[in-house]
Amino acid sequence: MASAAGTKVSTSGAAAAFEKVKFFPYWLDNPAAPAALPGLKGQYTADVLVVGGGFTGLWAAIKAKERYPHFKVVLIEAGRIAYGASGRPCGIISTSIMHGLQNAARVFPNDIDQLEELGRINLDGFKRDLERFQIDADIEWNGEFTAAIDSAHFPILEEDYALHLQHGHEMVLLNQEQAQAEINSPLFQGALWGKNRSGTIHPAKLAWGLRSAALKLGVQIFENTPLQRISDHSDNLKIATPEGEILAAKVFLGTGVANIGIPDINRRVMNVLDHIVATEPLTEEQLSRIGWKNRQGFYDTRTQLNYGRLTKDNRIIFGGSVTYHYGEPLDPDLNRQAGTYQGLIQAFFATFPQLSDVKFSHAWGGPIDYCSRGSVFARQYFSGKAVYVAGYTGFGVAASRFGASMGLNTLFGTDSPEQHLDIVKKGTAYIPPGILRWIGAKITFIAFDGADAEGGWKRAWIKFVKSLGFPM
Ligand SMILES: Cc1cc2nc3c(=O)[nH]c(=O)nc-3n(C[C@H](O)[C@H](O)[C@H](O)COP(=O)(O)OP(=O)(O)OC[C@H]3O[C@@H](n4cnc5c(N)ncnc54)[C@H](O)[C@@H]3O)c2cc1C
Repeated sequence: MASAAGTKVSTSGAAAAFEKVKFFPYWLDNPAAPAALPGLKGQYTADVLVVGGGFTGLWAAIKAKERYPHFKVVLIEAGRIAYGASGRPCGIISTSIMHGLQNAARVFPNDIDQLEELGRINLDGFKRDLERFQIDADIEWNGEFTAAIDSAHFPILEEDYALHLQHGHEMVLLNQEQAQAEINSPLFQGALWGKNRSGTIHPAKLAWGLRSAALKLGVQIFENTPLQRISDHSDNLKIATPEGEILAAKVFLGTGVANIGIPDINRRVMNVLDHIVATEPLTEEQLSRIGWKNRQGFYDTRTQLNYGRLTKDNRIIFGGSVTYHYGEPLDPDLNRQAGTYQGLIQAFFATFPQLSDVKFSHAWGGPIDYCSRGSVFARQYFSGKAVYVAGYTGFGVAASRFGASMGLNTLFGTDSPEQHLDIVKKGTAYIPPGILRWIGAKITFIAFDGADAEGGWKRAWIKFVKSLGFPM
């Protein structure tokens, strides 16, 4: 392996750095994780049943109980709280509820101002709620940093900069020298640093904090309790679980990418696995090699984008390497082989060659609820007695609080600003199923790997997929 001076890391060096890795999310590997709550046994009734204990389900349970204190609100989770995407993200808090302003402009150009306003209200409410519930989740309000890895990408940043200024964001556009003064990567040719209402968070601590807030409000939570079947039962819905049954007047489905027996859901949402690695804590000297004094979460502009942030104890969390598995199996820890992470490790060392002496402690996968509009949607089932909420496409840490409210408003027919906008009125398109989906995903992910450097058919394919209306 090269010394810490910044030369290229060999394949064997990268493998050695990965030798002692634990294939488990760093966030969940924490002695402070709460003990499991008992599973549901027997017959229950509920005014509102929430299915799924990720951010969306937890916020939905809290908001339902706060809005309707006299209601019996029950939450069931198939595994443990935050077992799905919510225990596995990079943890960058993004201002947008729309997967970014560019995406809002792409899908709902007529509603941008209102969506921006809803994003601001959501983030301010998110901050207030965490204070109110006394949730300590290592939040740092240090902004979002988008780094151009090619000078040809700079015009994209300039366009993004102008769009954000137009919508009142506090943004700074940085040239190469200024970008590298913030985060010293030789790849960064410039950057856009958004400074308001964004930062980083410890996602598992957030989920555990929300769990505790929900319990204190009187929500009944059952872990290791998967919904096995949902069916109409006159004015109620009947939900079967392995050892019990619940009759509920209203059901909020915060089940992310899972297949819960409603085929329409999985025609609109695709389960893509993204991957992340965590380093061991950096020493002060290692940290000094890369600067990063302002500790912003960053994304880069590669087609297969990489992203990263620092943890409280100065590990680097670095992600961005997608795979797709035929049939969309639910196990997010499907990839426990070092091979899956090779490209990601190489990308890490290309981003931070000065850290060639750093070792990795954890590696994990997590499900992305990819949908064609790239942003959260709420869709009703069972004549309006159930609502399903998902589709964040990799940007749901804070947007899930908005998704939960939008879903409850839809479920209860509550008049609220978003109900008058296309985010509610328009759905998200079908994504071709089965073998067609698999072939499309395979070609796209092969194209991701090399589209920037090689161009040719890979770039042409990505352009074609974008032209079909899929977010990239
Ligand atoms: C690798 C990765 C990096 C990411 N990075 C970021 C980031 O930096 N910033 C950002 O904003 N977003 C990020 N995201 C996205 C973010 O994590 C998600 O948008 C968010 O966590 C979605 O929350 P959710 O509650 O909708 O879904 P989930 O957290 O997946 O929750 C769904 C829950 O439903 C449960 N469930 C499923 N089936 C059943 C059933 N039959 N019965 C009962 N329960 C069931 C699951 O076990 C799961 O706990 C990232 C995601 C991944 C995977």
